[in-house]
Amino acid sequence: MTITLEHQKNSLLGDRGMNNNAIADNFSLLSKLMEIHGENSFKSKTYSIAAFNIEKLPLQLSETPQEKIFSIKGIGDSIGKKVLEMIETGQMKTLNDYLEKTPVGIVEMLNIKGIGPKKINTIWKELEVESIGELLYACNENRLLLYKGFGEKTQDNIRESIEFYLQNQGTYLYAQIESYAYAMHDKLSAHFTKSKISLTGSFRRQLETIDELEWCTTASSHDVKKFFIEQGFDAIEEDAETILFKGEENVKLQFYLVDDASFCKKLFQTSCSVDFLIGWEKRYPLSVEATSEEDIFKTAGLPFIIPALRENDSILARAKENKLNDVIQPSDVRSIIHSHSNWSDGLNTIEDMANDLVKRGYEYLVITDHSKSAFYANGLTPERIREQHRYIDELNAKLKPFKIFKSIECDILNDGSLDYSNDILATFDLVITSVHSNIKMNEEKAMMRLLNAIKNPYTTILGHMTGRLLLSRNGYPVDHKKIIDACAENHVAIELNAHPRRLDIDWRWIDYAIEKNVLISIDPDAHSIKGFNDIKYGVLAAQKGGLNKEQNLSSFNLKQFEEYLETVKRTKGI
Ligand SMILES: [Zn+2]
Ligand SMILES: [Zn+2]
Repeated sequence: MTITLEHQKNSLLGDRGMNNNAIADNFSLLSKLMEIHGENSFKSKTYSIAAFNIEKLPLQLSETPQEKIFSIKGIGDSIGKKVLEMIETGQMKTLNDYLEKTPVGIVEMLNIKGIGPKKINTIWKELEVESIGELLYACNENRLLLYKGFGEKTQDNIRESIEFYLQNQGTYLYAQIESYAYAMHDKLSAHFTKSKISLTGSFRRQLETIDELEWCTTASSHDVKKFFIEQGFDAIEEDAETILFKGEENVKLQFYLVDDASFCKKLFQTSCSVDFLIGWEKRYPLSVEATSEEDIFKTAGLPFIIPALRENDSILARAKENKLNDVIQPSDVRSIIHSHSNWSDGLNTIEDMANDLVKRGYEYLVITDHSKSAFYANGLTPERIREQHRYIDELNAKLKPFKIFKSIECDILNDGSLDYSNDILATFDLVITSVHSNIKMNEEKAMMRLLNAIKNPYTTILGHMTGRLLLSRNGYPVDHKKIIDACAENHVAIELNAHPRRLDIDWRWIDYAIEKNVLISIDPDAHSIKGFNDIKYGVLAAQKGGLNKEQNLSSFNLKQFEEYLETVKRTKGI
């Protein structure tokens, strides 16, 4: 549960009908608030235990006869009464009382990883800090160190969590918001049939994370407002040219209101980054009368630049010299290179995965289960590798001309060495190397591990380079240029991990990789057949980096791929 500022005003309870999760959330919040207020821990524990039990109940309390509620294990008289109160009124008075006497910022601190109610009590009562912003400031001033239970490490963790929390308020992964965006767009188009309406902004530019969805429209402010307010949205900001809405889903919807004549100009302006637009305005006029975006480019004497590429203004010079790549399309990916089967932590059998790709018209599949150090993911021992290879040989005989390549996602160990001896590494057709353990490290350590792995002649592809998880975890710090240079020197391709939470290597570095002739490999890191579809998000990111299909390893056909592996091995003398 995320505790929002609205929590105080409306109380989460609302009148939406209380399901068990909402009831449990309220008990859990009550328990935490009591602890924050430094109350008897026996009493607050009762409520957290109730929350735990209610969440696991197989039946909905709201559909259970009253008398039966009291006989459910773990629900005594006092808890039972509160459950009934919530079912009947949608409220819990005790909780409301606590919320009333707790500053909003203190309640919000419960969202910060690494600080529980006890620490919040200290922060509030001893440091006299009452908001998250203030707490961040206190961390930066090392003030937390003066209090019991706060070491330097704790303080660093709190600072990091706050930074993440603040960054990620209402921010979504592109993939998380995609279907919502299109569904909303369809709804708008169906409603405003006489108006122009187009998605724009960061979503149109395919950014990996999205703060708000944006539209340009010729519909009137009055009509747009009516449409959204009838659906329960609030207009949270408004001026003559824009309205910002927010609904239950906590997604911000921004509207740029324009007349018919300036629609195209506005659409163009709002689908460029600030950097790109400033660069444009320095060089080219922007006429109001443009009747299409194509028109705008034509007037400037430039080839059309797709919205995904309208980030960095350096692209303008390249467009002028006609040096723009035809960017890669999802259909240009012809193979699955990074995939996990049920031999490690994947869901499907290798045979099912291969058959799915045969149906899609793909020519090959690269199976890269985890290596032995990834014991948590059932990583493969040398014995199981031999077994898997025999199995793949059988499948290959059966599925010909489709081919399954023998590979592994080999852990890069603490010192940068690989997880198997050379004898074993030599049995694979190719090897992806990735860091999975001890990922909290400084740049020096990260670079040592990565560079050692890149220099290992058995590394074919460097997997998810920084280990980042978008909106959840920063990657370990790396010097991208040095890594790309080393990959160029050692004939190692760099993965663009297509999982929408990774998209690692960051598209901002693709340009440099292209310059250094380093191949990118758009790989889904699929843990199931369904995961193959993530390829699309990798392609959207790769487009932003200006990648074309010739520069992408997973676009190679079977023959090209085999030749590539052979050439690389020959060059490296393995
Ligand atoms: Zn991995
Ligand atoms: Zn993987």
